[in-house]
Amino acid sequence: MIEYRNLRIALLGAGNVGAQVASLLLEHGDELASRAGAGLELVGVAVRNVDAERTPTIPRHLLTTDAEQLILGADIVIELMGGLEPARTLILQAINSGADVITGNKALLATHGAELFDAAEQVGAQLYYEAAVGGAIPIIRPLRDSLAGDRVKRILAIVNGTTNFILDLMDREDASLESALATATELGYAEADPTADIEGYDAAQKVSILASLAFHTNIPLEAVYREGITKVTIEQVDAARKAGYVVKLLAICERLTDGETGIDGVSARVYPALIPVTHPLAAVHGANNAVFIEAEAAGNLMFYGAGAGGLQTASAVLGDLVSAARRHVIGGPGVAESTHANLPVLPIAHVTTRYQITLEVEDQPGVLAVIATLFSAHNVSVETLTQSAAGSGDAPATATLVIGTHEATEAALAATVTALETNQVVRSVVSVLRVEGL
Ligand code: NAP
Repeated sequence: MIEYRNLRIALLGAGNVGAQVASLLLEHGDELASRAGAGLELVGVAVRNVDAERTPTIPRHLLTTDAEQLILGADIVIELMGGLEPARTLILQAINSGADVITGNKALLATHGAELFDAAEQVGAQLYYEAAVGGAIPIIRPLRDSLAGDRVKRILAIVNGTTNFILDLMDREDASLESALATATELGYAEADPTADIEGYDAAQKVSILASLAFHTNIPLEAVYREGITKVTIEQVDAARKAGYVVKLLAICERLTDGETGIDGVSARVYPALIPVTHPLAAVHGANNAVFIEAEAAGNLMFYGAGAGGLQTASAVLGDLVSAARRHVIGGPGVAESTHANLPVLPIAHVTTRYQITLEVEDQPGVLAVIATLFSAHNVSVETLTQSAAGSGDAPATATLVIGTHEATEAALAATVTALETNQVVRSVVSVLRVEGL
């Protein structure tokens, strides 16, 4: 029988994820110890209410409301409370008392990540956060370790299961946004207050973490451009399907050269966009997540799976626990976050992409020429144009134009849309959607 060194594990939080982590650790402790090369002793679990019912159950003697006391003397602290405080203060206390820390808290990392990584580097501790993006999907370690020898060009990701579930239902069952959201709430995919998901805040937090790792640059949450899905209509989803696209809430980060200044930088953004039905991300259905990476040498890679769920996310947390325990056994300082590139974040106005614009226009001779001239006057080149459905009856005839553009800057596109809105032949600008993944 091998005698392992014993490591003391403190768990903060026993909700959806924490209770599963505690249960798996208690059940599979010996097996995990063999993999880690160290005994993993769960010394306590901090919660708000020690009498609350938990599934799976946790032995009563392990539960405490004194998180600060629990941290003292722990070798590894697992933070699964969520929220900014007291999670931030407790993690800093844990780091400063010599513990390694594991967290799944994307909100905290996106907001205070730089401070926490600095604190860990100062004392040679390590912060692990595989569960913070994509739930069960291994994506942090592949980006930080496996792709450390490559150059990432771009990441397109579906990192919010709630919005993917809603858009998928709109696409596959012709549901309106409101009814798809109601179904998501009923099935437990959306929270009672869905703002963080449907307005893109959750995805923005995750893309700030992915972009920081992929481009070796600290990308603060405030630098991420964000639009949610609340303006997506069933008409847009229908039109997209007919044109060979699907609408997804995409979290995007890429390395770009600013067309105006020539400066190399990073863009990080979240918005609903059209992607071709042939793109691998188009096949991500329901509440699943996927991260599609375009790297210089590796080419295209896709990581796919359950983006949330207590048990699924516990898998990522326990993977971090085994890594942290191995590091303790070997000794030496933790590996600091790599921010050596320190690239500037480019504003959305300087980002180039393609667009699909739907217009209602007067159905008269010469209208197409007016529209085409207007686009080219603003440096936006038209790639495709389809016209349909003239109006009838006494009302003056109208036609619907769907215009696909070549790559153009956001600034040029915004100026084009403003000009369209004030042009006499244009009845309305029905929708503007970006096109990604071509
Ligand atoms: P949760 O179900 O709300 O559980 C939070 C736990 O923390 C509860 O046990 C709660 O105690 C405890 N807690 C909260 N504030 C506390 C305080 N001040 N002092 C002591 N204990 C406190 O959260 P979750 O869904 O497990 O998520 C945990 C973390 O994992 C979050 O950062 C989340 O973003 C992240 N994450 C979650 C998922 C997922 O699928 N759920 C996926 C990826 C990442 P009581 O039980 O007594 O109230």
